[in-house]
Amino acid sequence: MTVRNVVILGSGPAGLTAAIYAARADLQPLVIAGRQAGGQLMLTSEVENFPGFPEGIMGPELMDRMRRQAERFGAEFVDEDATAVDFRGAPLAVMTEGARHEARAVIVATGASARWLGLPSEARLMGRGVSSCATCDGFFFRGKDVAVVGGGDTAMEEALFLTKFATSVTVIHRRHELRASKIMQDRALQHPKIRFVWDSVVRDVLGADHVEGVVTENLKTKERSEIPVQGLFVAIGYNPNTEIFRGQLELDERGYVKIYDGSRTNVEGVFVAGDVEDYHYRQAITAAGAGCRAAMDAEVFLEGVA
Ligand SMILES: Cc1cc2nc3c(=O)[nH]c(=O)nc-3n(C[C@H](O)[C@H](O)[C@H](O)COP(=O)(O)OP(=O)(O)OC[C@H]3O[C@@H](n4cnc5c(N)ncnc54)[C@H](O)[C@@H]3O)c2cc1C
Repeated sequence: MTVRNVVILGSGPAGLTAAIYAARADLQPLVIAGRQAGGQLMLTSEVENFPGFPEGIMGPELMDRMRRQAERFGAEFVDEDATAVDFRGAPLAVMTEGARHEARAVIVATGASARWLGLPSEARLMGRGVSSCATCDGFFFRGKDVAVVGGGDTAMEEALFLTKFATSVTVIHRRHELRASKIMQDRALQHPKIRFVWDSVVRDVLGADHVEGVVTENLKTKERSEIPVQGLFVAIGYNPNTEIFRGQLELDERGYVKIYDGSRTNVEGVFVAGDVEDYHYRQAITAAGAGCRAAMDAEVFLEGVA
């Protein structure tokens, strides 16, 4: 079996940037792109904060351009998920359905998945008022009313950020107290634009083409209410896509891959980039930057083992 120089897991901004750099370094990378090829930006419409696109660009188009750029320099793609890895020794191995790929270096860029409410109306209106990222989409809600679902630090951060644009921010939380840190709670609770709907969950998102409101249910009284909003930000957490690395790579208590010194993991030859290791910034540009870093670290590593 041919042992590749580098196999990249994931084809979001981190994986594709790593692929561009690795391909241009003549490492002939194989990208196991995943079933959601293109990553999280495939779920969105307009991306306005990726440098180089003053008019903005549609998420899927940005990802298509990145992929074509990597292919131009010789990166190969398999549009499947990796089902298992074996990082116990060299060469490193990555399994897909029916195939085993061996490599001297692996770049893990499997990203994270936002937790959603799981409502059909939420899926239908995704990118049309339903979002999981205020930094990304807050700007579109200038002068509008929005709702945020969640009670942790991320939800409070999203709510506070949205007050810069929105006329009002309604935080809907299933309990009567917040999980967020005291300082974030205080800021949110005292903010004149933020109001709280306690003990409640969202049962439906209203609107044909774009969000027009949400239906909430009070879990104690079972009473249902309609709140007119044009945006719904779901901030109930993220799951890093790291199931297949359990027992193979060191993960932190939340399941994110632990990063050491640049983009190195605890396993020699395995590098990591993007939302799978970064729970803080979670942006396409930071993921792309991390992908560049991982490819450069892998290149230096490969020079050492060649
Ligand atoms: C709705 C929405 C809108 C957003 N808007 C913006 C925005 O406007 N601007 C911005 O900067 N950021 C935005 N973001 C955030 C941005 O999309 C992420 O920060 C970025 O995509 C992270 O890139 P990544 O490459 O680390 O991971 P991801 O984009 O999550 O990509 C992960 C990749 O790994 C693959 N994968 C997963 N498991 C496996 C496996 N077992 N084997 C192989 N492959 C696997 C997936 O198929 C996918 O290709 C948005 C996010 C969402 C959800």
